[in-house]
This record gives sequence, C-alpha cells and structure tokens, in this order.
Amino acid sequence: MSTNEELFARAQRVIPGGVNSPVRAFRAVGGTPRFIQRAQGAYIWDAEGRRYIDYIGSWGPMILGHGHPAVLEAVQKAAMDGFSFGAPTEREIELAEAIIGLVPSVEQVRLVSSGTEAGMSALRLARGATGRSKIIKFEGCYHGHADALLVKAGSGLATFGFPTSAGVPEDVVKHTLVLEYNNLAQIEEAFATQGHEIACVMIEAIAGNMNFVRASVPFMTRLRELCTKHGAMLVFDEVMTGFRVGLGGAQGVYAKLIPGFKPDMSVFGKVIGGGMPLAAFGGTRDVMSQLAPLGPVYQAGTLSGNPVATACGLATLKEIAQPGFYEALGAKTRAMVAGLEAAAKDAGVPLVGDSEGGMFGFFFASELPQNYGVVMATDKERFNRFFHGMLERGVYLAPALYEAGFVSAAHTADDIAATQAAALAALRS
Ligand SMILES: *Cc1c(COP(=O)(O)O)cnc(C)c1O
Repeated sequence: MSTNEELFARAQRVIPGGVNSPVRAFRAVGGTPRFIQRAQGAYIWDAEGRRYIDYIGSWGPMILGHGHPAVLEAVQKAAMDGFSFGAPTEREIELAEAIIGLVPSVEQVRLVSSGTEAGMSALRLARGATGRSKIIKFEGCYHGHADALLVKAGSGLATFGFPTSAGVPEDVVKHTLVLEYNNLAQIEEAFATQGHEIACVMIEAIAGNMNFVRASVPFMTRLRELCTKHGAMLVFDEVMTGFRVGLGGAQGVYAKLIPGFKPDMSVFGKVIGGGMPLAAFGGTRDVMSQLAPLGPVYQAGTLSGNPVATACGLATLKEIAQPGFYEALGAKTRAMVAGLEAAAKDAGVPLVGDSEGGMFGFFFASELPQNYGVVMATDKERFNRFFHGMLERGVYLAPALYEAGFVSAAHTADDIAATQAAALAALRS
C-alpha cells in the first residue's frame, strides 16, 4: 500500500506542489496532506486506510455526507444516459426551477461549472448591466480566482487594490476597490466619493473564507441602502453559504433580520452540485436578459449544465428541501461547536465559535472577530498544533485557520462526542 508520504512525493513530481488546489497541500499547517481513497457518510479514509471524521466535506458540497444512496442512484442513472451533449436538457430546467423556487431573489439562473466561473460571470454581467466598471469587494472574502477579484487593499481608501497573485496586471485590478469587512465608515466614504461609478458590491454575507465572520446587521442594512441609492448591484456570493446555512442561503438569514432584504444577484456553487462540478449565478429576469444569446454580455461553457452534475445537484437539493432538514443539521453543528468550546474550557484555552446551518467556525480568541485583520491575528501556532492533534486523533478539520468547517447530515451524535473528546485530548497535550 502506498503511504501518504510516498504519494505526496510522487504527486510533487508531476503536479505543482503535488495538488490541484493550493490549500490541499497543508502549507499553512505544515506536514503531509492525506491522500483520500474513499468516503462514506461522515467519514473519509486515506491511502493508509486511516479513517477520519470529515469536517471539510469537499469544502462544503457534501451536505448529505458521502455516498448518499439517492444521490448515487441519480448520478448512476444519469451517467448511463450519457455524460455530456452540448445541447439543452430537461434536467437543467428542473435544477433552475428548483433554485428559483428556493431563493426568492432569483428569477433566472445560468448554470456553469465552478464557483470561480459563476463569480466572474456575475461580475461581467453587473458591469454590463450597469455600464460601469468599478467594483467593491471586502478583504478576506474569496470569490474565486478571476483576475479582477484577486486583489488586496491599497494604501488608502481612494486608491484601488493591488493584485494578490503574480500574473494579474495592475491595470486589470484598477477598478476593484477593497474595503474592510463590517466597516461602515469605509462603505459610506466609498459611495460618497465614487458611488455613481460602482457597478456592484460583491460580498460573502457570512464569510467562510476568513473562517466564519458574519456581516453585522447594521452593515448589511446600510450596504443595501447605499447600493440602491447609487444604482450599484449588491451581489451575494453564496458559493459556500447557498443551501448550506439554510435553504434560502445567507440572504435568507438576512431577510429574517432586515425586512424586505434581497440582493440583486446571487452566485452559487458547492452544495448545488452535490460534489460534482456545478455552479450558477442568477438574478432578476431583467438583469439576466442582458446575457447572450438575448443580450450583449457574453458568457458560455462547453460543460455548463452537465447532465451528470445536474442529476447530482437535483438529487441533493431534493433531500435538503425535506422539512426539518436544516433544523436537525443546525442543531448538530451547534453541538459540534459547543463541544469544541466545552473542551477548550476544560483545557483552559480561550476558544470561541459560531455556526449557521451546517457551516461553522472557531477561533483561538476570546471574542468573535469582525474582519480579516482580526481573524489573521488569532493564535496561528496554537491552531496549527490543534489541527495536527485532531488529525492524529482521526478528525479532519480544514488545514488553515482562515477556513470554515462543515457538518453533514450523516454526522451522528457519537461523531460529535468523539470530536469533543479528541479536542480535549489535543488541547490538553
Ligand atoms: C469556493 C468558493 C468560490 C470558488 O468556487 P470554485 O468552485 O472553487 O471555483 C467562490 N466564492 C466562495 C464564497 C467560495 O467559497
């Protein structure tokens, strides 16, 4: 049997860094990534046959757990009928209808193959529909790796951002303004000085790419008002939160807190594909009509709306739309976070956590951070030791302190108790 180390060495010879997406390489926490051989329910097994309780779930999609029988059956049946046609299918309509039925702000959607593609396309559409170029994003939010979105804050508010990746020309990001998350004064100033030029504001309303940080209600309320007042589109990136924090996504959470709240456009991924490459972006019929072939904004994809991926996504949505699904998932996830907090308390270590639906975060800090700077100032050394302590004890957490975690419907009370016990042992040592 190959070991993880052997596989990692072999992978590094033929794949840059040995991985096809950087976070998998364990660079933030050090050590050898686990090469996964198979998964079932709440568990994954590595190449050495070791079992882990999985709190990554492919970074969110596996909300039902791995190998859910109804999803497996749907995928197998779809595969028998053909992998891809490059022509429309009825299942694409069904998935679009399902998404629209669950998310009131969305009247039409277009299906694509990755969250990056969906975010990039939503951005182009917002620019095309408004005839404006400038966009606002927030530090710590990730919207995929499109050029215009790989940006960090400039030196001052009036200045636009700097690329966070080589290969992105400064010219390409000169229209992207990066502001601090939850900073009301900054959005006020940005809109006061350049509101008439801003095409859209893109945001993760419950940000899972800086661990787990919620946009405050006053912040979101004001952001909505400012966008409306200045004719900018509010784009919710729900690639992570969509169908994960609740059936209506993060926008459903804010709609309960802010009367009449709706974003103008939404971006989905992860859960809607159920583990297959599938994502979507949507909005009002008016805005979506700007897309080709109806309108002037071009967007296309050979594998978009893939028949096997749509079967997987539809089967997943059908399960999660069952009454009581999110109540049960939310209770489990809260129990998981409470378990971590209790273990930390017993071990005398400061730890706070938060969760919504099946998504959670925790910090080695005494208060929940409100923005990226504070998240990144939490105790990284302690996180890294904890991560490895948990991994050794059979619990697979995200290998970086700025990533959220995910609980699936397949996790049991025993899994959660075992996680708490592992956490206590890891924190004590
Ligand atoms: C994962 C993620 C993306 C990117 O999706 P990919 O499918 O990895 O391209 C975009 N936005 C958010 C909020 C995400 O969590």
